[in-house]
Amino acid sequence: MKKNKISKNWIYRQKKDIYVRRSKLEGYRSRAVYKLKEIDEKYKLTKNISSAIDLGAAPGSWSQYLSKKILKGKILSIDLLKIEPINNTYFIQGDFTDIKYQNEIINFFKKKVDLIVSDMAVNTTGNKNLDSIVTGELCMEAMDFAIKHLNEKGVFLSKIFMGSSFNEIISKGKKSFGKLSVFKPPSSRKESKESFIICKNLN
Ligand code: SAM
Repeated sequence: MKKNKISKNWIYRQKKDIYVRRSKLEGYRSRAVYKLKEIDEKYKLTKNISSAIDLGAAPGSWSQYLSKKILKGKILSIDLLKIEPINNTYFIQGDFTDIKYQNEIINFFKKKVDLIVSDMAVNTTGNKNLDSIVTGELCMEAMDFAIKHLNEKGVFLSKIFMGSSFNEIISKGKKSFGKLSVFKPPSSRKESKESFIICKNLN
């Protein structure tokens, strides 16, 4: 292995270890929390909000972060997998794409929501391209839901993969939101094709 490849791998492992270690020290369930934290610091997602939905929440670090930011308000998380309870957070175990659960979410809030975040991703087929296509479909579904259920000043954040559906998602987002940004936070692994879209100013 070439010297610069060795040092790249070393840096990667170090970086990963730092986020993993830090998440343990700070009581978060996953290093993923730092992606949301970094995005929040840049785009002020949680400033003055009182309601949030976390799509694809397990094991729960994004919801943990949101529960610290929204002290008085409503937070709802959903995932196919069960999660340990989180303060001030209502959890649904189920498939977000199922209308039954979408209705449960709508009934829980009974009004439009300030923030919808989605870190939903599939990792089931073993085929990275197929996983990325299905994850793109989840992002589209989450965006459709956000367009209907965010309030005027609401924000939609979603994981997105640089892949076949990237352009389609961006153009759909640009049609419905006045402002769309794509951002890869520093804690997202460089090797990963993931990035995040932040959509504001619903049309
Ligand atoms: N943000 C989470 C955290 O901080 O702990 C990590 C989320 S993990 C990267 C992606 C999650 O999306 C998985 O737990 C998976 O079960 C969930 N997921 C995938 N498809 C889903 C669906 N249709 N409905 C609900 N959750 C889904």
